[in-house]
Amino acid sequence: MKMHILSGGRVRMKKSVYVPEAGREETIELPVSCYLLRHTQGNVLFDTGCHPSTATDAESRWGLLARVMVPLSGPEDNVIDQLRVVGLVPDDIDVVVNSHFHSDHCGCNEFFKKATVICHARELEVASSDRAEMKGYLSVDWKQDRPVETIDGQKDLFNDGRIVLLPMPGHTPGMTGALVSLQATGSFYLASDSAPLQSNLDQDVNPRNTALKEDNAKSMAEIRRIQAGGATVLFGHDDAQWQTLRHGQDYYD
Ligand SMILES: [Zn+2]
Repeated sequence: MKMHILSGGRVRMKKSVYVPEAGREETIELPVSCYLLRHTQGNVLFDTGCHPSTATDAESRWGLLARVMVPLSGPEDNVIDQLRVVGLVPDDIDVVVNSHFHSDHCGCNEFFKKATVICHARELEVASSDRAEMKGYLSVDWKQDRPVETIDGQKDLFNDGRIVLLPMPGHTPGMTGALVSLQATGSFYLASDSAPLQSNLDQDVNPRNTALKEDNAKSMAEIRRIQAGGATVLFGHDDAQWQTLRHGQDYYD
């Protein structure tokens, strides 16, 4: 199995959301990562990043969210253009896994018309609830006219231990990470917002945008156990780590 790390956009936010000691005016640039997993039984995309239109006109799609999470994406910083770099089109994707339903993680779901979409049952429930927009769930992104397949616990996607989805509630109730096992380069835990920056995990700091604080602390303890077991944690939005990783055509196997 090959794993390609693809850019799903880039945003600017207040640094204090992630780093409590940061000044009120300080900002931080965050990469948005998507992962293409080329398994013999199908192509899996873990998260779909920001919608391409947010690179030029985020407010039309995101409304007020565009002021909290300011897009800095270049014209090809979206998973559709990045898949093309790898030689694929959206119809080549068999399974889309959404770590959660925030707009920087499911913004391109609409393009994957042939894929089975998977997320945690709690995530679908919260995104569908009243006032979900206040919590960052925009139906234009997550709600498509196709059914979503839900999980409510750990799920081994192809029953071979290669891609195992792990619920990690905290950032959102249905937040889900994935443990990916590759032959040559070993195991990777795709954290998404269960561990956005390395400093959150290393210093055991809950980001301010954590919906369930106690659950998040438990999830971070679990991620540290996974890390201690030898897996490399791929943080959801850590620019320093992002710069060191292989991207696009350059893959892990
Ligand atoms: Zn995120």
